[in-house]
Amino acid sequence: MAKFLLFLVVIAVIYALVRASNRRGKSPPAARGPEPMTRCAHCGLHFPHAEAIIDAGQNFCCEDHRRLGGRL
Ligand SMILES: [Zn+2]
Repeated sequence: MAKFLLFLVVIAVIYALVRASNRRGKSPPAARGPEPMTRCAHCGLHFPHAEAIIDAGQNFCCEDHRRLGGRL
């Protein structure tokens, strides 16, 4: 009987270890992936694409550079 109880304890410990390692392995990915970056066609500055001012298919970092236009 004692051996049977020991067997149950071993099974329970293995089960707990497997559950714990699965939790670690399945940690949720970062809520936000890396932000897509773009480059200003005038000054070459890299900045988040979400902030880009797009004109004639070119990305600019600010309104001034959009007005000055691409030079690269
Ligand atoms: Zn710029």
